[in-house]
Amino acid sequence: MSLPSPWRADFPAFAAFTASRQTYLDTAATAQKPQVVLDALLDHYTGGAANVHRAQHAPGERATLAFEGAREKVAQWLNADSPYEIVFTRGSTEGLNLLAYGLEHLFETGDEIAISALEHHANLLPWQQLALRRGLKLVVLPLDAAGDIDLEQAALLIGPRTRLLAVSQLSNVLGRWQPLEGLLALARAQGALSVVDGAQGVVHGRHDVTALGCDFYVFSGHKLYAPDGIGVLYGRARSLAKLQHWQFGGEMVQHADYHNARFRPAPLGFEAGTPAIAAAIGLGAALDYLGGQDEYALAAHEAALHQRLLSGLRRFDGLRLLGEPHTALASFVVEGVHNADLSHLLGEQGIAVRAGQHCAMPLLHSLGLPGAVRVSLGLYSEGDDLERFFAALHHALELLR
Ligand code: PMP
Repeated sequence: MSLPSPWRADFPAFAAFTASRQTYLDTAATAQKPQVVLDALLDHYTGGAANVHRAQHAPGERATLAFEGAREKVAQWLNADSPYEIVFTRGSTEGLNLLAYGLEHLFETGDEIAISALEHHANLLPWQQLALRRGLKLVVLPLDAAGDIDLEQAALLIGPRTRLLAVSQLSNVLGRWQPLEGLLALARAQGALSVVDGAQGVVHGRHDVTALGCDFYVFSGHKLYAPDGIGVLYGRARSLAKLQHWQFGGEMVQHADYHNARFRPAPLGFEAGTPAIAAAIGLGAALDYLGGQDEYALAAHEAALHQRLLSGLRRFDGLRLLGEPHTALASFVVEGVHNADLSHLLGEQGIAVRAGQHCAMPLLHSLGLPGAVRVSLGLYSEGDDLERFFAALHHALELLR
């Protein structure tokens, strides 16, 4: 079975990849874009670019309507209570930095921030640096044997001094869903704020932030088949109201004189300067595209690819999967082979995978590994992509061992 993807033809990059004999297996780093997203970008510019929220002319109104329309689409996608709960950012990294600055004033020396041992640097360094700035304690929740955040340990470590919990929904290295509900309940019981890094989780199915009950949820458009340069910070209205402004400039201000200013509330108060207008419109188009697909067919295709990926990898002697991934994202190491050599040889054979520490250096160190190779698939991936990868892996290992 070649597991063809009915969505592949919607993504023009695959014509280029076929022509250049590339097999793209690095979707967790960034995803390809469907034609409808490219069309949305082109329409925005060919229809006449204009800035948003400022101009009273027709092109400006058109741009503002499309930009604010995209915000509404994101709110609906996440089941937020209102578009006012959606702040556009450059991506997950910017969203998390915004939070670490915007919430800084709430912390007192000795307060604790809980993160986990598997966090991407984007959800580690902003909190680590905040802790260093303010004399806070960064508590690192350990993982259990399966590689998930250990709920029992978390229950012992999240306590009355915990002011904030920041955890990933899905690990970018282990491909496993984290026990979010339990973790969020622990944070809530202590009156701590909660931040969910949805950069990887948002890609697999739809998530309801209201049902989840987190204070904040961040993601990046580029991993969700949308353009780069656009991301989302969802914040529950009462949680957004706690944020202090962090970047200052045009359109985020209600009133300014030479010596003082009064700022707008969210979302515009946190979108200083000209936003990534076309990219936001592109994100709206990506959500329209995804929302228009049969979600059961999408999930079934991913599940079939996931099984094929795992069963194929397991056939290689000396290959060790890092954990048991839940999604079509798997990291592995091969005994006696350096991950960089392997990815180099795969790259030479036209196989695009990611190798190294995956921006999760402390996690890789705790696993005692210098790095790992990661394969990650998207809705456009096919069984034939995997067959080419397995053949190339076989060849690379023959050369290296
Ligand atoms: N968190 C996780 C779990 C990620 O995988 C990534 C992207 N690799 C990020 C945060 C950061 O996303 P971005 O680089 O788009 O800001």
